Amino acid sequence: MTTSHYIAGRWVEGQGTDCISVNDPALGLPFAELMAASVAQVDQAVAAARDALPTWKALTASTRAAFLRGFAEQLGQRREALIALQMRNNGKPRHEAEIDLDDAIATFAYYAELAEQLPEKNREVPLAAPGFTARTRLEPVGVVGLIVPWNFPLVTSAWKLAPALAAGCTVVLKPSEVTPLIEQAYGQIADTLGLPAGVLNIVNGKAETGAALSSHNGLDKLSFTGSNNVGSQVMRSASAQCRPVTLELGGKSAIVVFDDCDVDQAVEWIVAGITWNAGQMCSATSRLLVQDGIADALLPRLQQALEKLRVGNPLSEDVDMGPLTSQAQWLKVAGYFATAREEGLQCLAGGKALDREGWFVSPTLYVDVPVDSRLWSEEIFGPVLCARRFSTEAQAIAEANDSRFGLVATVCSADLERAERVADALEVGHVWINSVQAVFVETSWGGTKGSGIGRELGPWGLSGYLSVKHVTRCLG
Ligand code: NAD
Repeated sequence: MTTSHYIAGRWVEGQGTDCISVNDPALGLPFAELMAASVAQVDQAVAAARDALPTWKALTASTRAAFLRGFAEQLGQRREALIALQMRNNGKPRHEAEIDLDDAIATFAYYAELAEQLPEKNREVPLAAPGFTARTRLEPVGVVGLIVPWNFPLVTSAWKLAPALAAGCTVVLKPSEVTPLIEQAYGQIADTLGLPAGVLNIVNGKAETGAALSSHNGLDKLSFTGSNNVGSQVMRSASAQCRPVTLELGGKSAIVVFDDCDVDQAVEWIVAGITWNAGQMCSATSRLLVQDGIADALLPRLQQALEKLRVGNPLSEDVDMGPLTSQAQWLKVAGYFATAREEGLQCLAGGKALDREGWFVSPTLYVDVPVDSRLWSEEIFGPVLCARRFSTEAQAIAEANDSRFGLVATVCSADLERAERVADALEVGHVWINSVQAVFVETSWGGTKGSGIGRELGPWGLSGYLSVKHVTRCLG
């Protein structure tokens, strides 16, 4: 049992009723357990954040920036332990766990810089009308609830925590019950840095704990990353209190490959876009649209590349892809394999769970998938790629946009003018041209349509935790 909740600057044991098992997905076995926080403990965490708000928001932005730099530095000092834990609990290959850690570090460093650029003084607003002055104040939104999923826990939490703290908000973070240990590092770092008690609180738990936080009337805002189903519930709670939400939800993103591409390069991008993190990415490019002129050359090469991937336990083998992170996810993906068989889809690679201990599936490719297939339209969240052919640019754009989601897309073409034109026409929040899953802290993250509301990262990430106030004075 682990003491796993950080409330008002103290580590406390969970008083809830749910026992959370922390698993090693490569073995399919638990290696730790913890008790969830009770609803009363969620209340305590929100109250602690409320108490801490006046002092935290009154600090200069450069003082807050110094704390954020401390988070970046301390994450670096815990490097090996955090990489090992992500490999063990998420099933991430080492190079992926390293990238996650570097991303979290870069996020804290970036928002330290942005905090320092926040105007210390109010900005005068030039007015056309005579007789008045006006000034702009940027104020923290207040006490913010942060709820995150399990696929990139260290990163997703950093994308919320760093801008929220930079803005002067105080927070209650609820990690996923699938990966509840990794974010404890943020509480330990807060202790080490002497972050004022209550500025950062962490409560662990399952749906009940998440619901207690998202419906709490002591919050000023909720930022949620997770599934559309839970996102709707979170939005309903927010609407009951007319309170702002940021939602980062699911995706079913397209990768569009034109026939002027180098085949091997295109295969590399396609494989990375569907097998990174075993395909458990909101931004997985899981719908391949390949132009007629290259399809016959590309699809067999893609099949070979997927079949060649080394799938195994990242802790004991040199692997390209690890297991799925949870048994629930494994069962869900296996369910889609069964649906594909029922639908009669043509499977070129994989299509099955691996016959070994742990929650492994093989990288999978279905081709000529009809648009009314469930596998073409639903988010699977595993290494399952569906492919269709297209002939014209207009057809590719129409098919890519024919989705209830709108998170990301990748466009692969040697004709850069065309690639830029297609990027402009795609109804998504982020497009990669001739690259894949390249996320930089300076650019935005978030989707259109069913993929969410609001943007994280970049200056937009900070704006999400700031409220604009104007003070207008009559001179007469
Ligand atoms: P999930 O929605 O099941 O859980 C997300 C979080 O919500 C967890 O902490 C969970 O405990 C909590 N939760 C569960 N029920 C709740 C409730 N009723 N009220 C409040 N909180 C509740 O999602 P998941 O399975 O952890 O993650 C996978 C999903 O996340 C996928 O759909 C994926 O696309 C999405 N995701 C999106 C992004 C993005 O940036 N758009 C990033 C990562 C993951």
